[in-house]
Amino acid sequence: MAGLYLHIPFCRQACHYCNFHFSTSLKLKEEVLRAIRAELYLRRDFFEKGAILQSIYLGGGTPSLLTGYELEALFETIYQYFRVAPDAEITLEANPDDLDEPYLTQLRQTPVNRLSLGIQSFSDEDLRWMNRAHDAAEARRCIEQVQAAGYHNLTCDLIYGAPTTSDAQWEANVRILLEYGVPHLSCYCLTVEPKTALAHFVKTGQSPPVDDDKAVRQFLHLMEAMETAGYEHYEISNFALSGHYAKHNTAYWLGAPYLGVGPGAHSFTGQIRQWNLPNNPRYAKLVQANAPWQSLKGLVWEEETLTPADCYNEYVMTGLRTKWGCNLLQISAMGDFFAAHFTKQVETFVVQGLVRRQDYHYALTREGKLLADFISAELFYTAVAGN
Ligand code: SF4
Repeated sequence: MAGLYLHIPFCRQACHYCNFHFSTSLKLKEEVLRAIRAELYLRRDFFEKGAILQSIYLGGGTPSLLTGYELEALFETIYQYFRVAPDAEITLEANPDDLDEPYLTQLRQTPVNRLSLGIQSFSDEDLRWMNRAHDAAEARRCIEQVQAAGYHNLTCDLIYGAPTTSDAQWEANVRILLEYGVPHLSCYCLTVEPKTALAHFVKTGQSPPVDDDKAVRQFLHLMEAMETAGYEHYEISNFALSGHYAKHNTAYWLGAPYLGVGPGAHSFTGQIRQWNLPNNPRYAKLVQANAPWQSLKGLVWEEETLTPADCYNEYVMTGLRTKWGCNLLQISAMGDFFAAHFTKQVETFVVQGLVRRQDYHYALTREGKLLADFISAELFYTAVAGN
């Protein structure tokens, strides 16, 4: 599996909870897009020779701010320098306020075959509190128009645990999406990330902190409702009907290599992690087709080589969040001491009913999913644990 991610670092307005890299000024859009095309050229040999892209994901930021013409130019460059599987999953993240009929008509001229819609809630109160650019009526209209335009390979994002989201509203959010028959759903618990407007509001008392009990109640409802409706809970934040797993994200969770292009994008070779610095003006100025990628190291991008312990910790952290869990044979292949450490640490959670063991596989139970981060942290291998 090989995947390509393009980071489009522009948004119409800043959602209060968001810590992704984006700018609300579109002044540099053209220059950044030109640089993204240059980076695609400079990094055309990132994958092993003969690799075929199984997925392309345009995320951000807000990729639906790009015109049909701008998208076509990006895809032209991608197809020029990379081999793309005929059935590749090609996803575009989109916000409801961008998706009107003329835009969808343009989009159909591009290779995009899957849309990821940032719905977040069907309550105006929630959406205002989040500072989203759309309202509840637009969220509904968008899903209906997208489906009418023939995009049935859809995923929608929802956020639970917000102070304005009552349990009744949350249940309504989930029910509405199920009624639309959306085949894939990503649901995230509101988290207060540092340096966001929300962090400032919480610190100054303008917003209450996240109510953990409410978040747990809403997550439990979500799991129950989705299971009843026949969706598979295949990653802690993701639910899919049969045949609708997100190929791009699943490959990432299973440790496949991916190339990330654009300011702030990350790449992974299996052992080396690289990241582009989140700075639009510098990226636009320095990334040009005649500047060797290596010469931009430290200016535009950086990298680290993962230690065996890093690889083990990443595997545990991402693996445990999926339905496939962690495989002891795979951990043994990383080193017997990792396997010994994992086996010793995980036993408590097996006894407590938080982790289910089946042969060599260890996966979180429903109760375990409520404590996923804590359990992963306890299984991590650190220098101290290794002594
Ligand atoms: S639209 Fe998405 S990327 Fe942009 S600020 Fe909102 S959450 Fe962040």
